[in-house]
Amino acid sequence: MDTQHGTQILPHLYRVAWWDLAGKDVVNCDVFAVDCGESVVLIDSGRGGPSYPLMKANLARWGLWDRVELCLLTHLHWDHAGGVSQLRADGVSIWGGRGAAAFSQHERAREYFGGEVPALDRVLEDGEAFACSGVRFEMLDTPGHTSTCVSYFAGIDSVRCAFTGDLVMPNGTIGYSGSFDFDAQKLLGSLRRVAQREFDAVLTGHMLRTTQPSGFWMQDGKSHVLRTLQAGLEGKWNIAGQGRQ
Ligand SMILES: [Zn+2]
Repeated sequence: MDTQHGTQILPHLYRVAWWDLAGKDVVNCDVFAVDCGESVVLIDSGRGGPSYPLMKANLARWGLWDRVELCLLTHLHWDHAGGVSQLRADGVSIWGGRGAAAFSQHERAREYFGGEVPALDRVLEDGEAFACSGVRFEMLDTPGHTSTCVSYFAGIDSVRCAFTGDLVMPNGTIGYSGSFDFDAQKLLGSLRRVAQREFDAVLTGHMLRTTQPSGFWMQDGKSHVLRTLQAGLEGKWNIAGQGRQ
């Protein structure tokens, strides 16, 4: 169900609003919310800043905000992790992978974020599984789009979901390939690694503005990963036109 507050993809899976009341997209990346019962888990923080109150309000309209305890970051690009400090100030714990934890050591990290680099409250190990209010998640390192990229896998309403951040873009195209910590060979390796997993749906970092939330993506997610892998093998990198996403 689509509303101004976002998309209810499954009974317990939401995409938080992609437009404000003036019809403008202000959250930018796709922030997903998993309703685990006692608690709610966010996948990525959105860009933060003035969009943060809107994201909170839209979560509240779905009845989710009061139970948000955890935010799992897919990678440290501004549109995915720009809201970290605001979420932490609201008591939300921020988790991510080793690449994200190490990113602050990169000489260009502060320049990229214009100051403070988003920090983690817990660093997850490659392959680590954890449960949130009975929902089991597993994290895999999937670098390439950036050095900080990870993917999360969880069974939600009997659908095996893969949250892949910007590893995969709509219709099997390559995400932005111009980051200073982009690595083509690592990206291809990550796509192969994800393709070896069993899952139904792929929930990408920029998905639902251009595609429907039900149907193809939810039933045949792996085909998009394989198409993205093929595009990479053919060298169809995406350097221009998408800024720093
Ligand atoms: Zn990105």
